[in-house]
Order: sequence, then structure tokens, then C-alpha cells
Amino acid sequence: MIFDAHLDLALNAIEWNRDLTQPLEVIRRSEAHLRDKPDRGRGTVCLPEMRRARVAMCVATQLARLEHDLYSPVFGWRSPAQAWAMTQGQLSWYRAMEEAGEMVAIRDAAALDAHLARWRDADDATAATLPIGYVRSLEGADSLITVGHLERAWADGLRALGPAHYGPGVYAQGTSTEGPFSPRGLELLRAADQLGLILDVTHLSDDCFWQALDLYQGPIWASHHNARALVPHQRQLSDEMFHALVARGAVVGVALDAWMMVPGWERNKTTPESAKLHLEVLIDHIDHYCQLAGNAHHVGIGSDLDGAYGTEQTPLEIDSIADLQRLPALLSARRYSNEDTAGVMHGNFLRFLQQALK
Ligand SMILES: [Zn+2]
Repeated sequence: MIFDAHLDLALNAIEWNRDLTQPLEVIRRSEAHLRDKPDRGRGTVCLPEMRRARVAMCVATQLARLEHDLYSPVFGWRSPAQAWAMTQGQLSWYRAMEEAGEMVAIRDAAALDAHLARWRDADDATAATLPIGYVRSLEGADSLITVGHLERAWADGLRALGPAHYGPGVYAQGTSTEGPFSPRGLELLRAADQLGLILDVTHLSDDCFWQALDLYQGPIWASHHNARALVPHQRQLSDEMFHALVARGAVVGVALDAWMMVPGWERNKTTPESAKLHLEVLIDHIDHYCQLAGNAHHVGIGSDLDGAYGTEQTPLEIDSIADLQRLPALLSARRYSNEDTAGVMHGNFLRFLQQALK
């Protein structure tokens, strides 16, 4: 079984116009003629493929950011109302998937247990018919028109929150920036804490990261976050940060976006072939974290596959999310026990969620 702590499913469905209920080859064929995005025809994720990969559970995002003059590496909306509307469209897509029996929203520990029981003993034929469980997370808080909108989102089943994305944000500073939470951001942190949301520290500036660890009382994870010791960039976690997360009982998901796996990746220039980017590199990140922790209890998978990139920016062995099933053999070759391997593939995040969603 695989737990994937970071997939932008609704973003792919709506902004990339992908019908994720279709087989991968159908989705690829349907957009092979498009040139609007570099990853057209190169997606690796769809719901049938997730079932084939035994991704019984994932964290699925809502994501809509604001555009700003300073630094806007990815598309952003011009007002919070527009961004909010986009996240509500994404929520509607998740609801439609629930009604169709394709996915099931997991909001509490009881629902998590019931869902896992369905998957645990399922053979491949049964698994191909089961809904995929998802915990909903908001990646970047720009779309919350007011702090009060967080309460509405919680009532709708939101269970995790990453306050920032790339660049400066309304509430917090994100990847490649410096500086602390804004006064509204501090208010948002307090509100999230009161609601009992999981705080996702991925994408926070270093200042915000340390501030969040200081202030936040509730559960904390880093959903898709590789090691800075291996790829020196602010986007990654320093050893000191990882140690602090371990002390909080956090789990960190390792990601398969090429530029976060190997140093010196240049978008639209470096290729998986030229970088000799093999899946083995992900094991290096996993192993780095496990050596720091002294155990294998704080690492999981947060693949981020199809996070605005496709096979042009993933390891050579990844043609589909189902290729995540190559990881157990690689871990075993590095002498990870079956128990530790199961922990990395799903157990660590599930243990965390059973506590956090109580
Ligand atoms: Zn991200």
C-alpha cells in the first residue's frame, strides 16, 4: 500500500483540463497536440493508475495563489476572491469524484480506519474498484479572503494547511523568500491551531518555518520536502530543520520533482537523461533523513507527481505513479527491513494521521 502525501489532483483536473478518471494513455493522447505547458502529454497520475499502484490514500490539494509584482514563478490570480473561487471549483471536483465513487474524503480517524480496512485485504481486481481516500490540504493560503474563511474550509472537510507557496504570500513568506508571518498570518496560525488542522511547513521561508515550529501547538508535517544537504536550496529542509521536525513527531514526504532531487537542475534544459536521474536518488534523500533521525519512522512519500511537471522532470524509471512500487526493492537493497520499508511507503504517515485526526 502507498500513502502519497502530496498530489495536486484538482489542479490537474481543472487547470490542466485532465479527466483523471481516464487511463493515463487516454489523457496523454487527448493533450498531445497542446503546447501551452511543458508537461503536456507527459502526465504520470490518474485515478486508475493510482489504484494500480495501490495508492489507497493521498493528501490532495486545493491550490490557487495570488500574483504579485515581486516574484511570481507560477500563475496567480489578481484578487483573493478569484483565488477563493478557484479553490471552490477544485472542491466541487473532489465532491463529484466522491459522488462517482472514485474518491472518499477522510476527515477523522474512524473514517481512516474504515477506509483502510477496505483496502487492506483487497486483491488487485477488488482494488481496481475501490475509491481512493484523500485528506484535503490547502497549499498556500492566499485564497482565504479572510481568516474566517479557514473555518468554512474546515467545516467542508479541510484538514491540513500550508500557509505559503512560491514567493511572498498574503499570510506567510514562501519558497525563495525571507521574512516572518504577517500579522494576519499569525492570526491564521492561531485559527488553524484552534481548529486542530495539520500544519504543513513545506514551502515556508526559513524565518516562517522556525516561527511556525515555535508558535504552533498542533500536529506538523512537511508534505513534500527533500534534503538541503543533498540539494542546496532554500526549498529544501536543512538537517537542523529536520531534527526539529523529528522532535515534534513530524513525518516528511520526499518528492520526485527533479530539481529538488539533484543540484543544478535547469528547467527546460536539463533532462532526466543528461542528469542521469535515477529513482535511486530518492533513496539517497530518504536515507539521509533516516540516518539523521536514527530510525525510519519520520519519512514517507509526498511524490508531488504532476505538480506542474511530467516525465520531462521525473526520474528515468517513473513513467507513471505506479512506478513508485519500485521503491520497496530499492530500500530493501539498502538493507531497510520490511517493516521500515512499509513505514516509508505508508505506515509513518498513517500513524501520524491516526493521531492527528482523532
Ligand atoms: Zn508544492
